Amino acid sequence: MATIEDIYQLYLQHPTISTDTRKIAPGSLFFALKGDKFNANTFAEKAIEAGAAYAIIDNPEYAMGEKYILVADGLTALQNLAAHHRRQLDIPVIGLTGTNGKTTTKELINAILSQRFNTLATEGNLNNHIGVPLTLLKINASHEMAVIEMGANHQKEIELLCNIAQPTHGLITNVGKAHLEGFGGVEGVRKGKGEMYDYLGRAENNAVAFINSDDTLLSAMKKERGLTNVIYYGKNDDPNNIISGKLLDSSPLLVLEWTDNLEGGSYTVSTHLTGSYNLDNILVAICIGSTFGLTPEEISDGIAGYEPTNNRSQIQRTVTNTLICDFYNANPSSMFVAIDNMDKMQGSHKVMILGDMFEMGPESATEHLLVLQKAMAADVQERIFIGKDFAAANSSMDNGPWTMDEKPTFYLTAEDAMAGLKANPISNATVLIKGSRGMALERLVGLF
Ligand code: ATP
Ligand code: MG
Repeated sequence: MATIEDIYQLYLQHPTISTDTRKIAPGSLFFALKGDKFNANTFAEKAIEAGAAYAIIDNPEYAMGEKYILVADGLTALQNLAAHHRRQLDIPVIGLTGTNGKTTTKELINAILSQRFNTLATEGNLNNHIGVPLTLLKINASHEMAVIEMGANHQKEIELLCNIAQPTHGLITNVGKAHLEGFGGVEGVRKGKGEMYDYLGRAENNAVAFINSDDTLLSAMKKERGLTNVIYYGKNDDPNNIISGKLLDSSPLLVLEWTDNLEGGSYTVSTHLTGSYNLDNILVAICIGSTFGLTPEEISDGIAGYEPTNNRSQIQRTVTNTLICDFYNANPSSMFVAIDNMDKMQGSHKVMILGDMFEMGPESATEHLLVLQKAMAADVQERIFIGKDFAAANSSMDNGPWTMDEKPTFYLTAEDAMAGLKANPISNATVLIKGSRGMALERLVGLF
């Protein structure tokens, strides 16, 4: 059986990793991972034929010669290799988790730090027990720091990812309602995300935590977990904030003013982001840039240059409408802030199109009802709900206390909504489109 040191020696010669036989990089190390429906040991031979240098397998039946390296478990070997590689690297690693805003925050941090440093950041959303090791194994000697997104939908996942990535700096964006099914309710989310603070605060790690001082829950978690090495930022005037900031405009793109409370000096930046909740994401990125010694100009340039391209609060202008494309995902917390944002936004014709939220477990009915009520109370002119869960929430209210003026439209499926919007097109409006990934609301965009 090969040891991690054996595999590390192979990795030094073959630093590209493959896990999918349809995308084998020549000369790579192929790791045979198991999925729900497949066991990649059966593909090991194919991987070698396709040009992989070695195949790391965990079933001796598939060992066909010296290019097949046997380990006890393929996934554990990948994770241990990544942790071992990380241990050899003497660079700052920034780890981030949280219910909402991880990818956006990760990209903003990277946009700022890369003004000065050669950084490696998680690609897209590769933030799980496979994506994190694969990301770490892309770090090479030329990289000066890394930004690693860590996602979780159950307990102990962040602990595992922290043990692999060994962050020197970390943050939790926020703790809210998502993946309630896997975490076991909001308390479960708090516990699970708190594993980040536990790792940072452990004496032997003594890592730095960046904390949003506006967020009382995060401050409480900091206390509970005895964190001491903390840097604060926020929108308030807490004297502990090293960075503070406020929005000057948000209709729909954000313009902000941020202040460096250590050096003094305030700076105005126009961004390509929408959604007032993104101010928190921007402020922590500024705080990290400042901690690593970037100049205010570098920091502001990093933010101003960042353009979301990933359907997370992305603005798209059509001939007759302004769309806020937020259909990458949805959960009660991100729905609430998105609705608040629409409520406060200026505009004479504001429309919200909200799709069902998935993975809600037993809380689903209540949460859909709360979002429905919040949406009905918002200052917008039209509301369209898509999916059976919103429809059920509406029925549970005995067809709602809606007046004819505010009467919302309900469609059971996205297909129905597409037909409805085709028949009654919307024009001259600012339109929020948001729903869970499974709703695939991007299908609506062509109708505006
Ligand atoms: P995932 O769990 O899918 O990885 P994520 O945490 O990486 O999600 P993003 O992809 O950055 O989050 O953003 C997803 C959506 O969450 C955004 O489009 C927006 O609606 C919402 N969101 C972003 N930032 C915040 C925030 N600070 N607070 C609340 N909601 C936010
Ligand atoms: Mg993400």
